[in-house]
Amino acid sequence: ATIKKVKDRGGSAIAALTSDDHERLNRKAFIEKRLIYALDRKNLQLLYQPQVNLNNGKVERVEALVRWTDSEIGVITPDELIPIAEENGLINEIGSFVVETACRQLKEWQTKDIDLQISINSSIREFRDKDMAKMVLEQLKINDCKASSLMIEITEKFALEAEAERSIMSQMKTLQQEGISFALDDFGTGYASFRYMLMLPISSLKIDQTIIQSITKQEKIQKLINGMIQFGKSLDFQVTAEGVETNEQFELLRAMGCDSLQGYIIGHPMTAADLEKWLN
Ligand code: C2E
Ligand code: MG
Ligand code: MG
Repeated sequence: ATIKKVKDRGGSAIAALTSDDHERLNRKAFIEKRLIYALDRKNLQLLYQPQVNLNNGKVERVEALVRWTDSEIGVITPDELIPIAEENGLINEIGSFVVETACRQLKEWQTKDIDLQISINSSIREFRDKDMAKMVLEQLKINDCKASSLMIEITEKFALEAEAERSIMSQMKTLQQEGISFALDDFGTGYASFRYMLMLPISSLKIDQTIIQSITKQEKIQKLINGMIQFGKSLDFQVTAEGVETNEQFELLRAMGCDSLQGYIIGHPMTAADLEKWLN
């Protein structure tokens, strides 16, 4: 709309661009302001997406994914929200909210005899807070949860940077010693340096959905994915495929010996209540 207005007034392309940039910056600033407000009121939500363990056919783990709908802005997707929060530091508060909410959910499921592990996503900036591990362990304790009920997903970019930061490595190791497991998310999207896979306390690999979704396109891609699965398994990683959408993808991945699958073919991210119904 802004571009049109500028053009109508006979403005140049450069003026249109500047005004677009202006709008983007305004949106960012507004999101920031509204996010502080939302975090204060814990007005964010977690949805849970099931993962199927192909070794026994059971759903044993769900991934927690943050959702935020602001009354003034509307839906802000994680792909927009997380980079902004990483930049302005609010990611630490989002992280605390996620850990708190996930632990409370674990406790509730315990009382209902629902045995699920929750996998949360974490940004490197959260681990730059020296109290991150302490905060996670405290939340587990407050809610009477075992540490093995929690998994933390980190990206390849996180892993690459973490390897050089001793304090992050040591926080991860503390959590691992307590029983929390780590997964490498979006595996295969470009930062792969295989060394950190051995340096960091990671036990699972999640093959990125863009790779998974091209599995039926070319024989070479099938061989690549098969190679990634065998490679991961030979190093004792548990291998998960994310973004599985079709039966064909499902069957190919099962035949390749993938340990677990996550994606719309199994279930969309859903509220805890919907997940409980879905499990039945
Ligand atoms: P991710 O951790 O790789 O999560 C998987 C994303 O793929 C989710 O998007 C999920 O809704 C989507 N997805 C799952 N199955 C399918 C499928 O079959 N097809 C397709 N097309 N998509 C599928 P979402 O929830 O929008 O999250 C996007 C990214 O934002 C996440 O990618 C994660 O990196 C980040 N994120 C989400 N929640 C959090 C959080 O609480 N903290 C942090 N630090 N990052 C988060
Ligand atoms: Mg993830
Ligand atoms: Mg991913």
